[in-house]
Amino acid sequence: LFITIEGPDGAGKSSVVKRLEKEIQKITKTPLVVTREPGGSEIAEKIRALLLDPTHTNMDDRTEALLYAAARRQHVIEKIGPALKEGKIILCDRFVDSSIAYQGQARGIGIEKVRAINEFAIEGKRPDLTIYLDVEAEIGLNRIKDKNSNRIQDRLELEEVTFHEKVRQGYLTLIKDEPERFVSIDASRSEEEVFKDVWQVVSDRLKK
Ligand code: C5P
Repeated sequence: LFITIEGPDGAGKSSVVKRLEKEIQKITKTPLVVTREPGGSEIAEKIRALLLDPTHTNMDDRTEALLYAAARRQHVIEKIGPALKEGKIILCDRFVDSSIAYQGQARGIGIEKVRAINEFAIEGKRPDLTIYLDVEAEIGLNRIKDKNSNRIQDRLELEEVTFHEKVRQGYLTLIKDEPERFVSIDASRSEEEVFKDVWQVVSDRLKK
């Protein structure tokens, strides 16, 4: 079972992933692999550092898209592919949908172009279930600002709210195209309320 968690910046993905990890292990003996993108393998984490470096203000959009896809390729080869083969549960913070929303929609490369380079990278390894944490750009960004105070730690923090609105629109388009795979959860609420809904969906799926 391959589960991914998606959402705009500040949606609360990482806290959901942490709590899911704990709860999943309580109800199943199937081994669980928790991982994230960009990253999840040594090479992919190096690509992540390159991508997020706030000094790389001149990075070309297509270079960016290719680097995300390259990191993903290595992650699929080293971690996701083998775990799927061994029948493990995989919980991954971001996957192809992020690239389509951020690079395809928000950067304006185009959904189909970004989908194509990612198909090349993943060779059919697709999530069975994707939890989309939905939050308006402004709310998400305010959460991040509160957390990081004034330090810019990541290149994306240089983007305006309009960029993040496009990211959200990208996700909403994806959900319309593939409603069977996505479960959209209103993540503007408290951590507790959001997790309750997430757990309902994930625990149901694990019982199947
Ligand atoms: O989810 P996480 O905070 O680890 O992502 C790191 C940064 O990379 C975020 O600022 C996110 O918006 C950005 N990102 C991106 N394009 C992707 C995936 C993540 O710009 N495809």
